[in-house]
Amino acid sequence: MSQEKGNLSINSENFLPIIKKWLYTDKDIFIRELVSNACDAVTKLNKLMVMGQANHIPADEKFFITVTLDKEAKTLRISDNGIGMTADEIKKYINQIAFSGATDFLSKYQDTANNDNEIIGHFGLGFYSAFMVADKVEIDTLSYLPDAVPAKWMCEGGIDYEMAEGERTTRGTTITLHIGEDGTEFLEESTLYEALTKYCSFMPVEIYIDVVKQEEETEEKKEDKTIHLSEEEAKGLSTEELKEKVRKKKEATKASEEEERKPLNETTPLWQKQPKDCTEEEYKAFYHKVFFDVNDPLFWIHLNMDYPFRLKGILYFPKLVNQMDITDGEIKLYSNQVYIADNIKEVVPEFLLLLKGVMDCPDMPLNVSRSALQNDGYAQKMSNYISKKVADKLNQLFKNEREKYEGFWDNISIFIKYGCMREEKLYDKVKDCLLLKTTDGVYETIGEYLEKNKEKHENKVFFVSDENQQAQYIRLFKEQGLEAAILSTPIDKPFVSFLEYKNSGVKIQRIDADISDTLQKKQDENDEEKKAAEKLREELENLFHGILGNKTLKVKTESLKTADVSAMMLLSEESRRMMEMKESYGENEEMQKLFGHITPEQTLVLNKENALVKHIIALKGNADKQEDLELICRQVYDLALMGHKTFTSEEMTQFIDRSNKVLEKLAELEYKNK
Ligand code: ADP
Repeated sequence: MSQEKGNLSINSENFLPIIKKWLYTDKDIFIRELVSNACDAVTKLNKLMVMGQANHIPADEKFFITVTLDKEAKTLRISDNGIGMTADEIKKYINQIAFSGATDFLSKYQDTANNDNEIIGHFGLGFYSAFMVADKVEIDTLSYLPDAVPAKWMCEGGIDYEMAEGERTTRGTTITLHIGEDGTEFLEESTLYEALTKYCSFMPVEIYIDVVKQEEETEEKKEDKTIHLSEEEAKGLSTEELKEKVRKKKEATKASEEEERKPLNETTPLWQKQPKDCTEEEYKAFYHKVFFDVNDPLFWIHLNMDYPFRLKGILYFPKLVNQMDITDGEIKLYSNQVYIADNIKEVVPEFLLLLKGVMDCPDMPLNVSRSALQNDGYAQKMSNYISKKVADKLNQLFKNEREKYEGFWDNISIFIKYGCMREEKLYDKVKDCLLLKTTDGVYETIGEYLEKNKEKHENKVFFVSDENQQAQYIRLFKEQGLEAAILSTPIDKPFVSFLEYKNSGVKIQRIDADISDTLQKKQDENDEEKKAAEKLREELENLFHGILGNKTLKVKTESLKTADVSAMMLLSEESRRMMEMKESYGENEEMQKLFGHITPEQTLVLNKENALVKHIIALKGNADKQEDLELICRQVYDLALMGHKTFTSEEMTQFIDRSNKVLEKLAELEYKNK
């Protein structure tokens, strides 16, 4: 073949700067492009062999890719023994098509060139991405065709190319990158290794890294490799026999070295296997390896779908270290075993983003913009399929392995709640296996809870949002044989509203929203009793208003079944939610205008059965005891408040000071009596 020169560019002055600038953040992508091209070259040849169109290649031929790093020569070589190319094919696929692909790309995305996230995975550049890191690129190739002539192609700066007959004697292609200023980090073994493991860990052809050692090192290595026989081994052997023994030992060493050489990738990743062929150990090992999580996953779902689109993958429910640990999800997206990216919101249904997993979607149109992908229905279809699989798994666990499912609940509930709110379809499918953990330490569905408690409080779910703070209410509840759901994680706030919206007719109330009828000993019956009770209530309300200087506080008197509790603070469910909303808007001026004037409608419930309250009632008319009365009232108010909200620092200081004072008085009293 005669030497041929040419110019690749139509508008070459725009070409490289834009590629470089646009791809700046993901420079390592050239590794993916070139190694996956090498994989394709092997896959294509394999196909031809299967079709009987490459019969001269032995059926047991070993295919592999070698990435060779030569620091001194500043080169990186990607070499395969795949299908190779003829000179004509280079002209067609590299000089024309590849470049037209690049120009196409430019004309389409020039405008968005500054937006790195616009196009998924930056596909469509292929071979030319090599120029992101290399000044000069060479192709040495020999086609698989029996009479093929080797071809060599060379291009500097992505503009002018040269083609000539090559010297290659073995089938396949080697791409040599002469690394330039922009790519020096890829001459570091660690950077190269990182990029290879990121993109190529599951590619379908074995990949090896070869690092060309510096000269002195090579000498040392040679020294190491000299075969020595031990005295024992050499004993009584003739020179010839010695030579033969050394030769054999050398061979054995070489063979074991070959065996030791392991590819860096797994050519058949677990997700490509049939679920029935995968063991629990394999699922766990894969999880540990891919997600660097030392904990075992709780369970997993193997996605395996062929129609109407192909999707394979494994979704893992991770063990959360704590309930707040929800940002750690990681869904890795692959296309035909080639890594694309993590957590692409437009493709991966949002509710999955808390999970860990791999998804291989070969049919996904990757060379389109993210918004297009979102709108073309593909993402939606995928999301539907996955939510169905997730729901099936949860239902199956719930129905067949309830105990195990309950054991998982604390861990998975945060994900399921989030999922339900994000994806109502998921809610519809899992609504019957949503559990409530109750103050009795059991797990019940909402249906079970309502059924069990319908005699005591129909269509009402009580919950606690802070077990410590609301301990007093919980105790009261328990004493009366009542139970409340524990909904104490941040996601529970919106989830409670969501549940109410979904279950019309069911009221969900925090435990301190109202005094349940069942907690009351008796109601006042006749008119006289009622009148007297109302009079007392008014007097006490005035008393507290006077002492606390708070005229909005409502005071109620009740006879509770327990005498231990002096008072409780109630805040209606609506009022509490309103306050929470106000808090969540923080300093937002607009919202402060709207909500600013709202003050919580608190009700102090005084328990007439309690000794301290009886004292208050007795003391209120005694002019000499006003100081004591004030002390007791303030303390009772604070004790009620304490079970209801966290003290401010000022409230806390006052409470402590007053508690000290109360104890001092008690001590004085004791002293006087002696
Ligand atoms: P794409 O891989 O998307 O087709 P590329 O620019 O990466 O685009 O490659 C262009 C073409 O060059 C490939 O389709 C293939 O025909 C050929 N090619 C690239 N690398 C190799 C290789 N290692 N062996 C054989 N052919 C190759």
